Amino acid sequence: MVTTHEMVVVERIEPGLEVWACPRCGRRIRLRWPPNYDKQVLVPGDEDVPHAGASGGVRVSSVEVAPDVPRLSQVSPHESRWLRDSGIDWEASA
Ligand SMILES: [Zn+2]
Repeated sequence: MVTTHEMVVVERIEPGLEVWACPRCGRRIRLRWPPNYDKQVLVPGDEDVPHAGASGGVRVSSVEVAPDVPRLSQVSPHESRWLRDSGIDWEASA
């Protein structure tokens, strides 16, 4: 059985540039949103496990980090595809 880890936004460096982390294996990536998208793996964590971007991250970040988390609940199909290419299976968390 495949377990999916939920990644959450732990830090918002600037608008469109976020650090996502997995609380279960410690995977940590820095994500820059389109149009200047970029991804940097800071900590690989368990790369055998699929990772999903979760709406829970919005709740966490809205409470603990940023009051104005941008459009995480309104990911476009293009961005969803890009997230999936970046190792975050967005639709799996829907
Ligand atoms: Zn993980």
